Amino acid sequence: MIDLRSDTVTQPSREMKEFMINAQVGDDVFSEDPTVNELQDYAARFFGMEAALFCASGTQTNQIAINVHVQPGGEVICHEESHIYKYEGGGIARNSGASVRLLTGDRGRLNVEAISKWVNNPEDVHFPLTQLVSLEDTANRGGGAIYDIEEIKKISSFCKENNFPLHLDGARLMNALVETKINPKEYASNFDSISLCLSKGLGAPVGSLLIGSSSFIKKSRRVRKVFGGGMRQAGIIAAGGLYAMKYNVNRLKEDHDHAKLLEATLLELKWVKSILPVQTNIVVIELEFPEKRDEIITELLKDGIRIMAFGPGMLRMVTHLDVSPDDIKKVQKALCELTV
Ligand SMILES: *Cc1c(COP(=O)(O)O)cnc(C)c1O
Repeated sequence: MIDLRSDTVTQPSREMKEFMINAQVGDDVFSEDPTVNELQDYAARFFGMEAALFCASGTQTNQIAINVHVQPGGEVICHEESHIYKYEGGGIARNSGASVRLLTGDRGRLNVEAISKWVNNPEDVHFPLTQLVSLEDTANRGGGAIYDIEEIKKISSFCKENNFPLHLDGARLMNALVETKINPKEYASNFDSISLCLSKGLGAPVGSLLIGSSSFIKKSRRVRKVFGGGMRQAGIIAAGGLYAMKYNVNRLKEDHDHAKLLEATLLELKWVKSILPVQTNIVVIELEFPEKRDEIITELLKDGIRIMAFGPGMLRMVTHLDVSPDDIKKVQKALCELTV
């Protein structure tokens, strides 16, 4: 099977598993797991921030960050298709009792003009207090679109001037950084908190990191415990994340090259109406005949290729470290031979 449904399907490599087996572990609720501590320190240094916290998932890191930044009744500004709103089970309301202001924006991205229009006047008692802006980079629903760093800088300055924090859902931040070659420290300096997935393109089996100031991470540790995310000998899984951070970042470029090859093939096909221009490892296809979506998925399955429905008349393919150059050739061939 060539599984292009998501970059979450990656299997830990033999080298990664060996690294995990050999990890030193301790009780991380006591902050005594040396491997978890090493991963957290590594990530904090990588982004030039003070501290980091290893968590179970990207949903958990996002939800913890929102809970720390926002009071009940406060408001979070985010894109209408952002993961924090669309794919986290209503967690903003459920976990933090907060309201959301959903904005539209090109390919999952916000701009400072749109944000500034929707910041509520804190002197008017009618309105919820705007307490957080959250961005997503790369933007999943935007087909792996990357933010322009100049826009991020503008949004960051705006948030500072207005005294509310800026969070990044950086589930696929490494894909953006590898592609733009922007210095991670320069990039991170724009944010108060960053969530980073280790179990997507980076190939670790479990885990995400929340990164920020020491005082923010101290509060986040408390919320992680309340959310049931305090893990004991977590070094065994954190080791997979540490291996991923050390050895699997630069190779993301290969996944981007693979996605661009798929894009080039797809653009030639009659049943493809359009593709969101590929920037990273996500290919989003709009179909000429929307009703054929499930048939295309079934046909490709017969060739041993799994892809995913991505809304009405839309399909998604995601490249990752378990997809080889040969696999890409096979997929290209199957796509060309598909008759719909
Ligand atoms: C995958 C993902 C997350 C986190 O998902 P988990 O499955 O909870 O780890 C968060 N944001 C985005 C944009 C994602 O793609």
